[in-house]
Amino acid sequence: MRFSGLSGTHPARGILNDNARGTTIVGNVYERQQNENGHELRTIIISRFRVFFVVVALTEGLTATAAVANDAHTYRVDVDPELHRLDVHATFRTPVSDISARSRSAAQFLKDARRCDDGAPIRVRGHRLITPPGGITCLRYSVDLQGAARAERRNHGLHASNVIVSPTVWMWRPRLGGYDEIHVRFDVPEGMRVSVPWEPVSADDHTYTLRASPQSGNAVAIFGRFESSVVTVAGAALRVDVPRTREPVALAPTVEWVREAARNITLAYGRFPNPAARVIVFPMATSPWTSSSPVYFGRVIRDGGETVELLIDPRKPQEAFYTDWTATHELSHMMLPYLRREQRWLSEGFAQYYQNVLLARAGRYSQRDAWQKLYDGFERGRASAPTLSPNQATGRGERNTRMKIYWSGAALALMADVELRRRSNGAESLDDALSRFQTCCLPSQRAWSGKELVTAFDALLDEPVFEGLYRQYADTAGFPDVRPLLLRLGVTVVNGEVKLENDAELAEIRAALTARRYTDEPGK
Ligand SMILES: [Zn+2]
Repeated sequence: MRFSGLSGTHPARGILNDNARGTTIVGNVYERQQNENGHELRTIIISRFRVFFVVVALTEGLTATAAVANDAHTYRVDVDPELHRLDVHATFRTPVSDISARSRSAAQFLKDARRCDDGAPIRVRGHRLITPPGGITCLRYSVDLQGAARAERRNHGLHASNVIVSPTVWMWRPRLGGYDEIHVRFDVPEGMRVSVPWEPVSADDHTYTLRASPQSGNAVAIFGRFESSVVTVAGAALRVDVPRTREPVALAPTVEWVREAARNITLAYGRFPNPAARVIVFPMATSPWTSSSPVYFGRVIRDGGETVELLIDPRKPQEAFYTDWTATHELSHMMLPYLRREQRWLSEGFAQYYQNVLLARAGRYSQRDAWQKLYDGFERGRASAPTLSPNQATGRGERNTRMKIYWSGAALALMADVELRRRSNGAESLDDALSRFQTCCLPSQRAWSGKELVTAFDALLDEPVFEGLYRQYADTAGFPDVRPLLLRLGVTVVNGEVKLENDAELAEIRAALTARRYTDEPGK
């Protein structure tokens, strides 16, 4: 997450884990076993669920994924040409009695909810529908889209031809367990679009699949006339949606910038971690903040899918966007699953590490720039809340601990990366561990603990690395001391200025870390 204009990075406002829904069945179970000699074996058991979908995806393509889930709930959403209302018709595969909207203000905008069999009205209590005993199999309701849009502050600078309203306000639905799906089809007036965080079944007919997700924040939906593109990089087709503001913004340079940031992520292991993520770029020609950065704010939201939101200043020169780290930081979060709040330092740290390494691989930073930024970050992390451990610092919120949260995990990432490269003579790296992790486990529908994550990483290696580092530092006060390692890498510092020594013991590893391994052509 990044917020610019106050002091660089912003506290984790909005990154809250809604685990209360108990959607933890995803696919991967890690199990430790002992063999006869007492050596620990690590086995990854991939659940039926994931194998099933992988097989379907491989043999039948995307449309088949939709076809096999014919026991899904189905929703049809009619979008009014004036954007005044949504009319929703929901059919449930079995009778359901627990229907709610996630937002507590949703009831204000709900109009006329009825059973569709006999037309009987359904009342609301709080943000839940009161259903008859035995549940209902069909529901229709309308939503005051204009009213809901007025309550969403992001609409204030928008052109009237599009509105932003989170599905948490208009999507009245049963809870989703891990196998559950809702197919949502939008009937959209000619010339209009819909942007939702869900997986597209077919972009042409506005049909999407909604599944369980960590619900780490409230992703938005956009309705109306706005700009939309698909950016293709290795391993992914990313939707880039740009809401229409009162002052028009040139779309092409913005999309090209997002494409480069997404391509930066593929420089880790040759492909983008989520094949169908969404990026929303909000142009803000006037803002309450002053910032030298062209990106005021960025965050990733895991809610019904993965969305990166970027608030930009469209007046800034295009070149400034390419050397800004925010987009690369946010997109690199997708190389890890959503981590529980206490272990957010791991997630932020990996993103801090990779934003520097990847911008160097992309040629946007020199090798020295990247190490200077890493060194400066480690120093800030070391000075931040020295009496707390990373887990404590994250658990206590962000006050005076932000740099510890942002850099402790970066120190661990560097230590793990160098160790993997050193012991394999460069044959293995953190990139490879993340690549294997993506293959087995991403995108993930649930929140992970830090311990689970490092166990999963080590299960993908011949010899463990991550659990040892986690055990050593996660609950230890202070900051992981990377200074001896930096010296071995040939990163020396005089008066705060980094100098790179090419005859250092691990200088080759240092150079390899920022060396480009992949082309940016899709499919290579
Ligand atoms: Zn972040």
